[in-house]
Amino acid sequence: MYLKFIELQGFKTFAERVKLELGPGLTAIVGPNGSGKSNIADAILWVLGEQSAKILRGSRMDDVIFAGSEKRRPVGMAEVTLHLDNSDGSLPLDYQEIAVTRRFFRSGEGEYYINRVPCRLRDIQELFLDTGSGRGGLSIVGQGRLEEIFTARPEDRRAVLEEAAGIARYRSRKKEAEQR
Ligand code: ATP
Ligand code: MG
Repeated sequence: MYLKFIELQGFKTFAERVKLELGPGLTAIVGPNGSGKSNIADAILWVLGEQSAKILRGSRMDDVIFAGSEKRRPVGMAEVTLHLDNSDGSLPLDYQEIAVTRRFFRSGEGEYYINRVPCRLRDIQELFLDTGSGRGGLSIVGQGRLEEIFTARPEDRRAVLEEAAGIARYRSRKKEAEQR
C-alpha cells in the first residue's frame, strides 16, 4: 500500500485546492521555513483520525482550517483526501484504490468518508489498525516523538509495539466486546 496523492483544501496553509503527487518510492518535501512542509504531515495524521489539536500543533481543532492571510479571507471548512494504492491488498477492503476523506467545519461538525461514502471515525481507525500507518503508529514520527517513546510509561510503549506487531486490532475488538 502506498500514498498516491493527497488533495487538500482549506487545511492550514493550503487555502486553495491542491493536489500533491507522491507515488511509490521515496518522496522528499523541501521548502523554506514556514512554507507548509510539516502541515502536510499534520494533514495525513488528521485524516487518519487524529483528535488531539496539540498533536496537530494547534490549540483547538478549528486551528486546522485556513485562518486567512493578507491576500485571502479565512475559509469555513478544511478537507483532506488521501488517495491510497491498495493493489497489494494490505488494507482490509476489496478495492485497489482507496480514498479516505476528512472534513471539518467551523461550526464544529466533522465528516469522514471512505471512497466518498460517509463513514464513522471508527471505520477509518479500523481500516488502518495493524498496518502501522494508523494513529499512534510509527509511520509519522514528529519532532519530539522519539524522545516521548523512549521515556513513555511501559504500558504506553507496549501499545506502540503492539500496533507495530499487528495485534492492536485484536486488543481493540476485545475491549469493544467487553463493553457490550
Ligand atoms: P519549518 O521548515 O520551519 O519546519 P514548515 O515548512 O514545516 O517549516 P509548517 O510548520 O508546515 O512549516 O507551516 C507553518 C505555517 O503554517 C505558519 O506560517 C503558520 O502561520 C501556518 N499556518 C498554520 N495553521 C494555519 C491556518 N489555520 N491558517 C493559515 N496558516 C496556518
Ligand atoms: Mg516543519
